Amino acid sequence: MAKTTPPVEKNQTIELTFEDLTHDGDGVGKVNGYPLFVPYALPGETAQVKVIKTKKNFGFGKLLEVTKPSEHRVEPPCDVYIQCGGCQLQHMSYTMQLDMKQRQVQNAMKKIGHLEHVPVHPSLGMDDPWRYRNKIQIPAAERNGEMITGFYRKRSHDIIDDMETCVIQDEVNDRMVEAVRRIASRLGIPAYNEEQHRGVLRHIMVRTGQQTNETMIVLVTRTNELPYAKELVAELHETYPHIKSIVQNINKERTNVILGRKTKLLWGEEYIYDTIGDIKFAISAQSFYQVNPAQTKVLYDQALKYANLSGNETVIDAYSGIGTISLFLAQKAKKVYGVEIVPQAVSDAKMNAKLNHMDNAEFYVGKAEEVMPWWKAQGLNPDVIVVDPPRKGCDEELLQAMIDMKPKRIVYVSCNPSTLARDLRFLEDGGFETKQVQPVDMFPQTGHIECVAEIELKVSN
Ligand code: SAH
Repeated sequence: MAKTTPPVEKNQTIELTFEDLTHDGDGVGKVNGYPLFVPYALPGETAQVKVIKTKKNFGFGKLLEVTKPSEHRVEPPCDVYIQCGGCQLQHMSYTMQLDMKQRQVQNAMKKIGHLEHVPVHPSLGMDDPWRYRNKIQIPAAERNGEMITGFYRKRSHDIIDDMETCVIQDEVNDRMVEAVRRIASRLGIPAYNEEQHRGVLRHIMVRTGQQTNETMIVLVTRTNELPYAKELVAELHETYPHIKSIVQNINKERTNVILGRKTKLLWGEEYIYDTIGDIKFAISAQSFYQVNPAQTKVLYDQALKYANLSGNETVIDAYSGIGTISLFLAQKAKKVYGVEIVPQAVSDAKMNAKLNHMDNAEFYVGKAEEVMPWWKAQGLNPDVIVVDPPRKGCDEELLQAMIDMKPKRIVYVSCNPSTLARDLRFLEDGGFETKQVQPVDMFPQTGHIECVAEIELKVSN
């Protein structure tokens, strides 16, 4: 390749017109074909941009002033939107967010999967794309003798201390963080000091069941001892009767991981409950539980539709977590087998099956890519396989095991369009056909995209 010099220099200010968006929602504008990535710029806009960094084939810029705004530019409702970085798309109309997510899935299907003919439907969004999160985890620290709580400033461990609310968070959780901080501060409970690894209260975690209104408070501490625990707990549950559980989680390590291994019940129940559709879930401090249950229902209804069950099918749910999808499927199938690598999640799944009086779902601990070939060797022949892998997608062994098992249908739930497209290509080459893909917006205001794909065994097989 010929050596080229970028047409712009670091610190130069230029006028740039934007054409496109990256996966993270940054604007893309070109100078003589050389792309510059600029956070908070939208396609169709013209802006003054300061060049921050140049690489051989692309560069980065900072938005100084939008001279011609897009009709999709909106005022972000969050006061700390830019400092926090937890959301990336608040400056973009919700319509544009949904369009962008659909387009990104289409692009991945085309460029990575060479599956341009597969229909990718418009993203299913929320009527009200705010305050959807059911769980908050917020760090505590001390500043000028007062306890403060707030998210970290982007790429730092510096707490944004004037943060009153998080606009994608359930209002109840916001209020509970404020209550814990206020009471703990008055009682004189010391907050954690990360630099010196001293102090007590590290994080406040709050989770509320959106259907049941039950709240769990988790106080993450560096020490076994939580001073004034009795007073704090009493004031919390006496003032806020929707609190059903208060637990202490102990994390003595110098680490970015929020929760430690040990959890101690301080007051109330060990679990709170919530429902998605007709299924009830028991949620402990350590349980994984979907953060946007309203859209989870939309996603799983779609998965169930693509599974097309009549009641006689044997189904495998790989990467089954706490059994959310498995139990949804078990309502319509003869038998569901779930496989999941985290033992605690599997015991939660078993408990959730019992809680819902469902005896046609079995859960196994193991690596999906190892258990599936073993199941095949045992003669298990599923009619339908559902997968919901982490961002890195499915292992090739697992894709091969699915191809060997020849189920009539596969439903692929994905949180990463790139690995989805890669895996769909592998399945296509192995005798399956992707029929359609449905993006579902589980995380409005952020760049995350969730999809579900319908895949069928080709008739000639
Ligand atoms: N469907 C579940 C969770 C899906 S998240 C739900 O909605 O609750 C992906 C899950 O895959 C996680 O629970 C993770 O622990 C699990 N996992 C990751 N790698 C795995 C592997 N190799 N085999 C089985 N499970 C795995």
